[in-house]
Amino acid sequence: MSSEIRQNKATKEWVIISPSRGKRPHDFGQRKAERQPVPRYQADCPFCPGNEERLTPILYQASVPGSDSWQTRVVPNKFPALTPDNSVERYGVGPYVALPGYGQHEVVIESPRHDQELAGLGQAQLQTVINTYHQRYLALCAEPKNTLILIFRNHGPRAGASLLHPHSQVISTGIIPRHLRWREEEAERYYDEWGHCVFCDILAFEAADRQRVVLENESYLAFVPFAAEVPFELWIMPKRHQSDFAHTSNEERGALAQAMQSVLGRLHTKLNDPDYNYVFTTYNRPASEPHVHWYLRIRPRLVTRAGFEIGSGIRVNPSLPEADAAFLNDGERGVAASTKA
Ligand SMILES: [Zn+2]
Ligand SMILES: [Zn+2]
Repeated sequence: MSSEIRQNKATKEWVIISPSRGKRPHDFGQRKAERQPVPRYQADCPFCPGNEERLTPILYQASVPGSDSWQTRVVPNKFPALTPDNSVERYGVGPYVALPGYGQHEVVIESPRHDQELAGLGQAQLQTVINTYHQRYLALCAEPKNTLILIFRNHGPRAGASLLHPHSQVISTGIIPRHLRWREEEAERYYDEWGHCVFCDILAFEAADRQRVVLENESYLAFVPFAAEVPFELWIMPKRHQSDFAHTSNEERGALAQAMQSVLGRLHTKLNDPDYNYVFTTYNRPASEPHVHWYLRIRPRLVTRAGFEIGSGIRVNPSLPEADAAFLNDGERGVAASTKA
């Protein structure tokens, strides 16, 4: 296929899909040699059991039913990018505007085991991780200064992870970045013009077209977006219109765990455990909004941004989204055809 310039329907961002550059999906796999074996326990790791005194305070803990041990824990980041005891009052600096570094920066420890891969967690344990995100998200939503709350995970050195012990992070702050405001404005414009949510329209098309779908269960559709910015970018999106991750039911979080387990597991096996980031794109608003729709965005770190991309803001994706989906579906039972995964 020759290259094609595709637009992300929801944001109006352009991407150059240029798969003719000689790479096939499996060529993006990370070489195993790059990974060192990880011990089950490491004495100097602050997140390993026995080092609790180095974690102050424990903000949240999910315990193993009927035992003293824990499954997940949330603690403040030891080196926070932002601190909670600041105000969000803006002030002028000559022609500039600034505010104190207000925010909360938390670490979600996903397992007591130092070597536990998220992709290898059982569905119930993965749901405990998601429920932990949900608990902290609700707690941070209760603070009106938190206009932005991001739940994210950096996996591997190329994704910015500095500690090996499996963890995610939650950051809240008192600003709304241009990038997210712009997405919301585009979605709002679409809603005003057509009277529906752009993401619901994307879901309906992808669920019928199926060329980019990698998983569908009762509550979620996972697919490679039409204008994927990087090889194997994946969106896991609730099938029912839902603007905020806060509104998910426990049952829906179970279905999300099933979807994440399958999708992350396939990335892990088929691409040799690639580095990746994932981010919950969600809107913490008091009422349900008709035009915005939350989703989990997974971005493997398999390519680097180069000069053209930095200068133009246009990503060049060297892999065809349909080929990525087919590659992830290869050998999976009944994924592309059925509605149950
Ligand atoms: Zn550890
Ligand atoms: Zn929607």
